[in-house]
Amino acid sequence: MSSVVIKGLYKKYENGTVAVSNFNADISPKEFFVILGPSGCGKSTLIRMIAGLEDITKGGIFIDGTPIQTIPPKNRGVALVLNNQTLYPNMTVYENLEFGLKLRKVPKNEIASRIDEVAQLLEIGPILDRKPAALSGGQRCRIAFGRAIIQNPKVILMDEPLANFDAKLRATIRSELKAVHAQLGKTVIYLTKDQAEAAELGSRILVMRNGTVQQTGTYEELYNSPVNLFVAKFIGEPQMNICEAELFTKDNRLWLRFGEGFTVALPEKASTPHLMRYSGKRVLMGIRPSDISLGFEGGDKDGSAISMTAESVELLGTHVTLNLVSRAVSLVVISSSATKVKSEEEVKIILNTEKLHLFDGDTERRIN
Ligand code: ADP
Repeated sequence: MSSVVIKGLYKKYENGTVAVSNFNADISPKEFFVILGPSGCGKSTLIRMIAGLEDITKGGIFIDGTPIQTIPPKNRGVALVLNNQTLYPNMTVYENLEFGLKLRKVPKNEIASRIDEVAQLLEIGPILDRKPAALSGGQRCRIAFGRAIIQNPKVILMDEPLANFDAKLRATIRSELKAVHAQLGKTVIYLTKDQAEAAELGSRILVMRNGTVQQTGTYEELYNSPVNLFVAKFIGEPQMNICEAELFTKDNRLWLRFGEGFTVALPEKASTPHLMRYSGKRVLMGIRPSDISLGFEGGDKDGSAISMTAESVELLGTHVTLNLVSRAVSLVVISSSATKVKSEEEVKIILNTEKLHLFDGDTERRIN
């Protein structure tokens, strides 16, 4: 139950690579905190600095208010779980679990009771006398997690622990991990590239890019109000549709012009003085595939209903993904009511203008 605060953290490797820059995070006790970002964005470097495996160039890391830079790694109270963590092949599960504790000279009876506790928590009692070769991938992952928990750390650091598993196993272990965390109540910092993992596990998610924090929030906050184009594109599956557009004013209201001659009015309340300043400017317009609906009846006075050609139609379960292309615009739409749409067919769509995301064309920061 420990807090972790990271202030102005910076890491420059000897070869000049800046892997982490001006990084700040404030992680609460018991939180399952996910750091989400593409490969190479600095996640491992960050976690290795917390674990003490990498020096800090600048800034500070505090556990329960105490700076940890000068504390040797083994005394920091952090345990690290990696994705390629190999168990000792010649040892049983029991011996793998006790190994670290024996090194620390923990008394034998305490080792036994801790293993007993962890075995119950992770439901691995029946496999304690097996060797790793006789375990499934999921079981091995559980033992790797067990080896971290058993040290009774203040903070558990997990570096893409499920990266090597197939989608089905990942989903199973994810929900197990969630249940174990709820029982255990430890602070967890979890790294991943996978937004589905982040969404399911993270009480909050920090989106990282090029060593910097882009946004921290719940999945819903990141999904509904991404602060910039990177977060908008990184969160949500399929990806948010983005197209270049121009804002203009007509009858005291803001409109968007995009593609070859499409126009759409923004909701009246969106015409704020702040946004009005962008009138006449190039912006980036974002709309999620699920915020576009099919078909319209009656008038089209604000232009939110437009006609486009279905370039391809993919049916997945009860939903259809349409790729629409017309007049220099291409949009992906997900709908449950389009199962009869055929490729090359003309479809009418309505953009839910309440759900439009607008970004500055130059800075790519959110403006609405
Ligand atoms: P991630 O975990 O998000 O994939 P990393 O922290 O591994 O990212 O890497 C961040 C950046 O730092 C990358 O550009 C990587 O090439 C670089 N990097 C990682 N380790 C070293 C190192 N030991 N020396 C130099 N550059 C490194």
